[in-house]
Amino acid sequence: LLLLCFASVADAEQMKYKDPKQPINTRIKDLLGRMTLAEKIGQMTQIERQVASADVMKKYFIGSILSGGGSVPAPQASPSIWVNMVNEFQKGALSTRLGIPVIYGIDAIHGNNNVYNATLFPHNIGLGATRDPDLVRRIGVATALEVRATGIQYTFAPCIAVCRDPRWGRCYESYSEDHTIVQQMTDIIPGLQGEIPVNHTKGVPYVAGKDKVAACAKHFVGDGGTHNGINENNTVIDEHGLLSIHMPPYYHSIIKGVATIMVSYSSLNGVKMHANHDLVTGYLKSKLHFRGFVISDWLGIDRITSPPGANYTYSVQAGINAGIDMVMVPYNYTKYIDDLTSLVHKGIVDMSRIDDAVRRILRVKFMMGLFENSLADLSFADQLGKKEHRELAREAVRKSLVLLKNGNSPNQQFLPLPKKARRILVAGSHASNLGYQCGGWSIEWMGGSGNITTGTTILDAIKSTVADSTPVVYSENPDGSFMKHNDFSFAIVVVGELPYSETVGDSTDLTIIDPGPDTIRTVCSAVKCVVVIVSGRPVVIEPYVPLMEALVAAWLPGTEGQGVADVLFGDYGFTGKLPRTWFKSVDQLPMNVGDPHYDPLYPFGFGLTINSSLPGFSGVDNLGDTKQRLIYVVMCSLLSLILINDLGIGLFQHPAARM
Ligand code: BGC
Repeated sequence: LLLLCFASVADAEQMKYKDPKQPINTRIKDLLGRMTLAEKIGQMTQIERQVASADVMKKYFIGSILSGGGSVPAPQASPSIWVNMVNEFQKGALSTRLGIPVIYGIDAIHGNNNVYNATLFPHNIGLGATRDPDLVRRIGVATALEVRATGIQYTFAPCIAVCRDPRWGRCYESYSEDHTIVQQMTDIIPGLQGEIPVNHTKGVPYVAGKDKVAACAKHFVGDGGTHNGINENNTVIDEHGLLSIHMPPYYHSIIKGVATIMVSYSSLNGVKMHANHDLVTGYLKSKLHFRGFVISDWLGIDRITSPPGANYTYSVQAGINAGIDMVMVPYNYTKYIDDLTSLVHKGIVDMSRIDDAVRRILRVKFMMGLFENSLADLSFADQLGKKEHRELAREAVRKSLVLLKNGNSPNQQFLPLPKKARRILVAGSHASNLGYQCGGWSIEWMGGSGNITTGTTILDAIKSTVADSTPVVYSENPDGSFMKHNDFSFAIVVVGELPYSETVGDSTDLTIIDPGPDTIRTVCSAVKCVVVIVSGRPVVIEPYVPLMEALVAAWLPGTEGQGVADVLFGDYGFTGKLPRTWFKSVDQLPMNVGDPHYDPLYPFGFGLTINSSLPGFSGVDNLGDTKQRLIYVVMCSLLSLILINDLGIGLFQHPAARM
């Protein structure tokens, strides 16, 4: 009997980590104490879903899976396909000796953007223009639901880079050149993860409930400060610059309970961030008390190349010893596991370092309730692309637009446009292209062209906004004779950049794509026009500004193009302010607010509003076809004659009456 008693007490003890009533630290301690080295290293491994399977999960005790940009189980996969796939991997993980659940991550950086039919919000640069952290928090709430719709529990967002040079291909992933805006926008973290309770211990991750996801602040640190904006390059900066420009958003993310932080590919003063012990362990973990887990970037440790000739084993050693807790491998995971195992056996990587990493990973998993709710179901499936989320995205688009020019003289403004007009021309490469307006990281890693997913193009939005009687003519790149033979009231020209991601987006000329400049020249010299720029950053526009009546920066608005038409036609006002400096020419770069020789085309913070005491552009253009205009002119003339008569100054009056 005594033996039996002992056995059941031991059983209960054994189950401690499985008991949700136990404090998280007790559960971690209990579980960690039971784990073998192989099980621990498995937790520190994140692999691509293409190489994962239930068997792989089981054999290597894999702790995490990811869908890197555009990695989907099937084209246009439905929530049930996603959920089944995630559950398949999860079952593999749960069937291991200790049954530690896997955490699945995806780059949901502007909505759940790899997934067909999801709501795609404006990219971060547009959200920076809104200056509205509460809006961004609500976007976080919606994104978490749309990620959960696919059974996934983790997003590699937000990117809290402070982009200091628009030549950087990831500039649109940055909210602003100004760190105060970036740090305010970390309010997306409580949106994604849940509102942190008062008295929550600083630095401890907080992720609440089944409808939330773990966030990932990235890329630590200085990714937006690289030389000439070259992706993954070196950031040269002194301590004051680092701490006052690039570090504050991390501090704010940690305060808000961010679960994970991703290390940057870039170097800082010549040291690869993936090998930077002083900053990852010394600053982030020790000084800022971050207690979530640090994840490498995709093949990030492979890129640790110093000292010259260093091999992969060296990279693993340097990365793990710098303080990386989970490695995004993503394919050759057996090599990584073998190397790390032998490094521990040789004492080159200390067991205490491994335990620290695993403790952090388990903390996030326990905090998220993954042990209790490991398998996903379809209860969030209807959240994907739902009406309320699309409305929210439309609101974000409206608030992100920045009005840079409105009219060619102070007393005359061109916007808002009239909904009734004789004939409107919509032109430009970006007017009718959903893929272009979504930018990079949209369905595919590089983004795409045309109907990549469901949504509203700017052209469709314009058509559904104007009066039924107003013809909208669309011509992507009209020529001079087309313009001559058509009598347009005004034109809306939508041009910009092609979608891109990461290094592919690095640019030294920052031009809009051809034939954009030609389209502007041809259209705007023939008829009054507003130019809408769809781009991930300021682009070269100064030479064309005199040709146009109005200029609007729309950034990369995402799937809800209706928000653009809402504001162009005056249903809502312009409220957006430039989140970054708009340069005149690229040879001024880098140029940020506060620089000594600051001479921008439009300064940081610039953004016009509609002056309601001035009339917008309307006049005869409100009046439909020629016949209607004729009737109008006759009616007006008659009316004025009657009025003049009534006032006693009319021509029809007897001269005697004027006395
Ligand atoms: C990017 C990260 C991203 C990761 C996973 C990397 O190339 O730098 O921002 O989270 O891929 O897709």
